[in-house]
Amino acid sequence: MTARATARDGALAPRLLAWFDGHARDLPWRRDPSPYRTLVSELMLQQTVVATVIPYFQRFVARWPEVTALAAAGEDDVLAMWSGLGYYSRARNLHRAARAVVERHGGALPSDEQALAELPGVGPYTAAAVAAIAFGRRTFALDGNAARVVARLAGVEAPIDRPATRTQLRVLGQEWVPADRPGAFAEAVMELGATVCTPRAPGCARCPVAARCRAREMARTTEIPARSPRRARKVVRVACARIFREGRVLLVKQRTGLLAGTWGLPARELPQDGASASPARVLVSTLHRLGVEPRSLILAGDVRHVFTHRDVTATVFDATPAADRAGRAAEADRRATDDDVRWVSPHELTTLAVSSFLRKLLEVPAASRLQGPSPTRRPGRGSGRGAKGDKRLESP
Ligand code: SF4
Repeated sequence: MTARATARDGALAPRLLAWFDGHARDLPWRRDPSPYRTLVSELMLQQTVVATVIPYFQRFVARWPEVTALAAAGEDDVLAMWSGLGYYSRARNLHRAARAVVERHGGALPSDEQALAELPGVGPYTAAAVAAIAFGRRTFALDGNAARVVARLAGVEAPIDRPATRTQLRVLGQEWVPADRPGAFAEAVMELGATVCTPRAPGCARCPVAARCRAREMARTTEIPARSPRRARKVVRVACARIFREGRVLLVKQRTGLLAGTWGLPARELPQDGASASPARVLVSTLHRLGVEPRSLILAGDVRHVFTHRDVTATVFDATPAADRAGRAAEADRRATDDDVRWVSPHELTTLAVSSFLRKLLEVPAASRLQGPSPTRRPGRGSGRGAKGDKRLESP
């Protein structure tokens, strides 16, 4: 039997739709699947589980119930609403897409799949999902769940991350889309993948289409879908500084990288041959650029955070700025009135766009609490924390 023979099975869609009608989870974006709400939910659900997305989705559409409202919002507000959800490029893209909908389409999302795919940040999957779910277009949306389901049903053994395999899976899936209720079919396939045909332990005994599943027939549900060997994550080391003053912490806005648009600690990536670089020395030059003259940098600890393609270890220092307000510290105050440098209170942290990575960095116990007061200090530089008893003191 070939994959295409399975694809011709006309009973697949009715069985799946009947199962979906009785088993679909009650999710907020399903209650009113308007094009805008569908777009928001699909972008939020990328790389993120449903339970995490639900409260973000509800807050987001309560604040911006229409695409025109989102288009009029400021990017900082959008990123703040997205704080903690991760993959911040999705938030920036959603915002840009909303503005493009207003500029190009008069404030109404287009129903055409191609026009949807031309919106900023809207890829083939999202365009197909919105076209099918919100506009009833007869198209197949191939996300990770759908790819796994199609590969198993059709017995596709090639790695599903290869572009050629994705194309094959999309063609197969497209053949199964019924003329009636294509949007429900798209959701049914995704739902099956999320709740029954799960990656490690598919629930074949309760699967509505088990009788038509090639992988089950071949007893290869654990081998399918196959994946190409993963590329190792890039290992990155950074040094970052926590500088507190009057209960506020100095933050800078990230302009590039994975966390662009969010606020973070002053930080510097360390050279790959980390053994030859003193994290504190590297960090000091970054602080100087911000107008901070650190009197001391005391190691608070290391934080590891794994992103999709990066394995980051951050060395956190607590920096004590020099007390000379007339000197370089004044420059930090001046910079703090800029758009990209700010002294932030704990309350403001709840309203700004901040990543879960920053929250982890701020949660590291303060160096002083770890080490206790130090009896030594740099000569002639006030009463700063010193070396003896410290985990490490690295002077600039
Ligand atoms: Fe997935 Fe098992 Fe159903 Fe096949 S029978 S589609 S492997 S749950």
